[in-house]
Amino acid sequence: MNESNTRFIFVTGGVLSGLGKGVVAASIGKLLQFRGYTVDAVKIDPYLNVDPGTLNPVEHGEVFVCEDVWEFEAAPGYRFRIAEIDQDFGTYERFLEINMHPSNNITSGQIYLSVILKERVGEFLGKTIQVIPHITDEIKRRILRASQRLGPDILLVEIGGTVGDIEVMPFLEALRQLILELGKERIILVHVTLIPFLETVGQLKTKPTQHSVKLLQSMGLQPDIIIGRSKVELPDDVKEKISLFCNVPGRAVISDPDLETPYELPMIFERQGLGDLICDLLRLPRRRLDDRRVSEWSELVRRFKEPADCVRIAMPGKYCMISDSYISIIEALRASAAYLGLRAEPILIETEEFERDPGNLKILDNVDGILLTPGFGARGVEGMIMAAEHAIRKRMPLLGICFGAQLLFVAFSRLVLGLRGANSTEVDPNTPHPVVDLLSEQREVNLKGGTMKLGGRPVRIIRGTKLHEAYRSERVIERFRHRYHISPRYAELAAEKGLVISAYDELDETICGIELEGSWIVGVQFHPEFKSRPRTPSPIFLEFVRKSYENRKKRG
Ligand code: GLN
Repeated sequence: MNESNTRFIFVTGGVLSGLGKGVVAASIGKLLQFRGYTVDAVKIDPYLNVDPGTLNPVEHGEVFVCEDVWEFEAAPGYRFRIAEIDQDFGTYERFLEINMHPSNNITSGQIYLSVILKERVGEFLGKTIQVIPHITDEIKRRILRASQRLGPDILLVEIGGTVGDIEVMPFLEALRQLILELGKERIILVHVTLIPFLETVGQLKTKPTQHSVKLLQSMGLQPDIIIGRSKVELPDDVKEKISLFCNVPGRAVISDPDLETPYELPMIFERQGLGDLICDLLRLPRRRLDDRRVSEWSELVRRFKEPADCVRIAMPGKYCMISDSYISIIEALRASAAYLGLRAEPILIETEEFERDPGNLKILDNVDGILLTPGFGARGVEGMIMAAEHAIRKRMPLLGICFGAQLLFVAFSRLVLGLRGANSTEVDPNTPHPVVDLLSEQREVNLKGGTMKLGGRPVRIIRGTKLHEAYRSERVIERFRHRYHISPRYAELAAEKGLVISAYDELDETICGIELEGSWIVGVQFHPEFKSRPRTPSPIFLEFVRKSYENRKKRG
């Protein structure tokens, strides 16, 4: 199919945010993949940040990192590096099992930046620059360019935020124009809304949905499909009511109930005929379902739903107020556990609790393994180091990721090397023992956006290490996002006391894997969670969960 044939499925949200539009978009993509169609996904984030890289995870959730780094040319002569993107791309990669590209994360920040810089360069000489048509033109240009990158059969375009938000308006207007330009048969609009259950009257309520559809209609947009998020499956009478009031056919009202595992959603949608409906609306042939793909996915769902036992993993960290901060890590744990016939129970622990009262560390005696999380800045760090020291003392399975690996090294330096006050210079710039320090290439860097070491890079794994045992390969590609690294000088010292360097970055030779002799304690500078997928969990996560479960058995 050539690029000009790409069809578009826009996904908007109504009533409130956090309804799982990403999971809906990804599940729709899965239905199309089941039919042998190729798909790609775009996410629009209406905030003014150029990318989410500088956002606090507690405010925004996890920042995802792709394999590719994108040179964003905002205007001739103005280039920006972008590799940090919205967490929904993690959902897309896990469902669609394809690598996403950072240029598919369009933000208002990028759109306005482009338009304003183009004005300075002189692209609009003589013109008044306005939201319509200049901002909307730039939005359409970006969406069409995304469709041309791979020329998929279908491009999913998820619009973040909620219909009615001021920042979302230019995107909805651009969508209205695109429908006019490309024709209804090439673009459909799926609206995801909440159908709350009112306990007092024991009823599912459709009024908020009616209002959010009216908002869309007032902007010249009519949804083709309405997906109702609710606690339970929508009964027929509720579907009929939505159909009547929102002006969509009955079979285009689809139920999206709470599920044990999100990976079941494609099956729930398929059962309601959503796959064929989308093909009909987009004038695509109703292809037969690919049995192999469907049964592999069903098998995955079964694994998640029928665990034989559980494995408890503590996640000491700094951003535990919302679980979305660590979504890829949690998904990697769940997938690894499911692969082993287990259910992972991640336990998020705000490490300031350990600092407040070291007695709180005893919670770690009730878990099977510790995952020391990534992060930035000084708050909660002493508590993370305390957790690592606890694991070293008790020889508990521990996997440290990025900051977690760096702080594991700090803990080892203090506890085993006896270097009092050892720290990362990120946390204590005046530490007497800078065992973790700024990467040399970072010394000249002043700007904060898009300037870390980012994206996929080759990693050389040393034979005979635990890391090699997990990956069974001497060279892998993993994804990075950091400014600091484990000091090679101190790592040499540590080697005499039982610390093993297990991996190096092939390009700059920095240390990117450490482990301890005599226990399963491993740290990695890269982020294996970003490459972990439900059917093919990350090897190092899998090994960590296996060792944690062995520990559980041992503990009895
Ligand atoms: N703050 C650390 C660094 O910049 C770790 C980053 C992370 O965990 N992603 O190196």
